[in-house]
Amino acid sequence: FNGENELGGCIVHIKFEAKTSLEENKRLQELDQMKSDFLSTVSHELRTPLTSVLGFSKIIKKRLEEVVFPEIKTDDKKVNRAVRQINDNVDIIISESQRLTTLINDVLDLSKMEAGKIEWKMEPLFLEEVIDRATSATTSLFEQKGLELIKDVEEGLPQILGDGDRLIQTVINLISNAVKFTDSGTVTCRAKRVDGEVVVGIIDTGIGIAGDDLEKVFEKFKQVGDTLTDKPKGTGLGLPICKQIVEQHGGRIWVESEPGKGSTFSFAIPLQSGEKNIIEKINVDS
Ligand code: ADP
Repeated sequence: FNGENELGGCIVHIKFEAKTSLEENKRLQELDQMKSDFLSTVSHELRTPLTSVLGFSKIIKKRLEEVVFPEIKTDDKKVNRAVRQINDNVDIIISESQRLTTLINDVLDLSKMEAGKIEWKMEPLFLEEVIDRATSATTSLFEQKGLELIKDVEEGLPQILGDGDRLIQTVINLISNAVKFTDSGTVTCRAKRVDGEVVVGIIDTGIGIAGDDLEKVFEKFKQVGDTLTDKPKGTGLGLPICKQIVEQHGGRIWVESEPGKGSTFSFAIPLQSGEKNIIEKINVDS
């Protein structure tokens, strides 16, 4: 090869690479879109029969409680045992159908967010109100586990621009996880202003997360830790959804943790956040 050929070869090579990666990118985007559409369709189709399964199971449960149990006068142990078994099995069908419903709703929610098909309702709001609403919605979880909720919200926090319902969903997700993975102690909801951001932290005294797993928890369907223990089952989609919501507000989300001591999930929303999105939305709409 002389210098010219080498140079020529090189140029051809670069052109080829650029064309291929453009085509590849387009193809990957198409595949990604197909995957999202497929997930949405399947999820929609699953939701209808599941609603029937859940509805009819609840009717069976009600009939058992209101009609069958009061009527059983027999001392026949076999009949009693069978009815108890039916009751227990219906409980399992109800709780598993509820879990599946949550999973389907989460898959739909996340795929819509990823495809940019969610309408964000950005408005000026106080994160203190978001925390109040989220903690009220989760009081029963605290009662069930006998955990203490501590609220530590800095006074006079400025307003941010955000989608209230989606931010409440984020805080509820983080609090539910904190309660789920904590057997004793406290869950603290903290909010304070740090420079140009409002930082919200959900701090628990639970099982914690090992260093290697810290980043993985924000990936889809990732459930970390000892899978052999009978740890509460979830969908592995809660944190990826929180991440999408926070990032839509121009913010970031992260976790710090010490195994055996507890975890702190934090997210920061820039004070001017959402303005950019609102302006973009106005431009698109007009
Ligand atoms: P899910 O809770 O439905 O499993 P998430 O996406 O919310 O899904 O969480 C993913 C995983 O991250 C959990 O399964 C758990 O292993 C870990 N995790 C989340 N929050 C906590 C927490 N507060 N303490 C310990 N582990 C947690």
